[in-house]
Amino acid sequence: EERSFIAVKPDGVERGLVGEILRRFEARGFKILALELTHPSEALLRDHYGDLSSKPFFPKLLKYMQSGPVAAFVIQGKGAVKIGRAMLGATNPQDSAPGTIRADFALDIGKNVCHGSDSVESAEREIALWFPQGVKP
Ligand code: ATP
Repeated sequence: EERSFIAVKPDGVERGLVGEILRRFEARGFKILALELTHPSEALLRDHYGDLSSKPFFPKLLKYMQSGPVAAFVIQGKGAVKIGRAMLGATNPQDSAPGTIRADFALDIGKNVCHGSDSVESAEREIALWFPQGVKP
């Protein structure tokens, strides 16, 4: 069944939102396949955000993502990627629809609380990157 990679970013962990965010995914019906609190290396983040490395905000993004632990997890269930993104809301919390995680808990694109894979291919790539030890079904 479809899987997606979701991460609560350092601001979300610091603010104590991990339980609330996990709760929403569990309540929706997704299975949590893997769960880890981790300090991502710069190398991992460069790999994860490879397509953004030329953006002006990239140095700030690296610093933000290394400002504390990240809660990384894998959800599994029908439509995991698309529904996962929908539950997070638009990248910029200023544009996120009410009821989404970013709209309910954030105001600033530079501190938007969470990440979700944007395609099935990137989900599988990100799962392999963040959980190199593998994820059991
Ligand atoms: P994510 O990959 O975190 O789920 P996304 O795929 O919705 O986000 P991207 O455009 O890939 O959005 O941007 C990745 C992350 O980079 C954003 O979630 C945000 O933390 C940061 N970011 C994007 N644009 C900006 C910006 N203009 N200023 C500061 N940070 C930004």
